[in-house]
Amino acid sequence: MKNYDIVVVGAGPGGSIAAKVASESGYSTCLIEKESLANNGRYKACGGAMAWELIEEINYPEDKIGRIIESLELHHVDGEVFSKKGKGAVVWRDVFDKFLTNLATESGAILKDNEQLIKIKEVKAGYQVSTRKDEYNAKYVIAADGVSSPTLKLLNWPFFKSQDVILTITKEMNTTKSYIDKILGNDTVHLFFGIKDLIPVGYAWLFPKTKRITVGWGNQIDLVKNSRKEFEKFWTLPFVKEALKNSSMEIFKPHLIPVGLRPKLYEDNVFAVGDAGGMVDPISGKGIPYAMMSGQIAIETIKTCEKKDRLEKLGTTYEKSLDRRFLKILKAKRILRDKIFKDDENLKKFLKLWEKHRASEIVMKKLLD
Ligand SMILES: Cc1cc2nc3c(=O)[nH]c(=O)nc-3n(C[C@H](O)[C@H](O)[C@H](O)COP(=O)(O)OP(=O)(O)OC[C@H]3O[C@@H](n4cnc5c(N)ncnc54)[C@H](O)[C@@H]3O)c2cc1C
Repeated sequence: MKNYDIVVVGAGPGGSIAAKVASESGYSTCLIEKESLANNGRYKACGGAMAWELIEEINYPEDKIGRIIESLELHHVDGEVFSKKGKGAVVWRDVFDKFLTNLATESGAILKDNEQLIKIKEVKAGYQVSTRKDEYNAKYVIAADGVSSPTLKLLNWPFFKSQDVILTITKEMNTTKSYIDKILGNDTVHLFFGIKDLIPVGYAWLFPKTKRITVGWGNQIDLVKNSRKEFEKFWTLPFVKEALKNSSMEIFKPHLIPVGLRPKLYEDNVFAVGDAGGMVDPISGKGIPYAMMSGQIAIETIKTCEKKDRLEKLGTTYEKSLDRRFLKILKAKRILRDKIFKDDENLKKFLKLWEKHRASEIVMKKLLD
């Protein structure tokens, strides 16, 4: 039995940042990850797109970037194309996540990879967490184990509403850099929309990486009739067909994205962080920065409440801090999302606005109303 102040379950962006901040704050911290992080870590289905500000904020090395991005092309299936400028990057998630996990271990967190959490029970001093290999005791538990969060499932926390879950399919297609540069442009991500003829609530995408194209499709789960067939429909679009000509499939992976909050984000010293809590932009599906921020906020909450001896305020402090930093906007975006995907006319109005404005500006200034 090992005793820690904090056990973090899941070494994704949320868990690794939580473990880093916890160790830096002087808490003994154990980071448990079910996958082996030896060599290059593990594959994760993800576009891996992020704003350049985040790359700079964490000093992410340029040689670990899949591609530097300067623009987004927003295609509507009826042929209209909208363009959005802005610097960003696409990264490989195994490389990116491992970079963050290394920051956590360099700060003193103990990493237990290749260890899957299989049991958690409340004990007098906090929680007893069991993996397939060992047992750990901790006062606090950070559930950063993704959308399906085994931790929260074992604790009987409620799951997301079905209209708040997107089913995605990702295929990694090998091709050549010169062909990607020629067809997709060397610095452009392509998104595809169309409520009537492509996806009722969601979008599909082509993300250029070094010598691969990440092809993805995501639709609100309760509206999916036959995911493979619907995904295949996307491949028949002339632009997509041309882009994927002569490519070969390396990986195929379905995955869920939460686009609304879990009904509960905190209870009895357990914090839901990142996808486990549903902290994803409901319009774009962007979740990496929110996972990282919520990991940090969970630990700051513990620190603040311990310092003020107000442990009964852990839940409200966590939710208030999340709201202040980003959650209020995500909640407003969740309402806007229903408006955007009401019909193709609204969707195009949004795409036109998105060319020039950030989605947060569209929602806060009520530009779509
Ligand atoms: C197809 C797709 C495309 C996306 N594209 C983007 C994008 O371009 N940009 C963006 O910002 N976001 C994107 N997202 C969202 C982004 O991937 C998530 O929001 C982000 O990964 C959330 O981080 P997290 O740390 O909360 O969870 P995760 O990254 O899911 O990490 C959870 C970790 O917990 C581990 N784990 C699970 N169960 C256990 C267990 N029992 N014991 C121990 N460990 C466990 C997992 O192995 C995993 O490492 C995309 C998502 C999908 C599905």
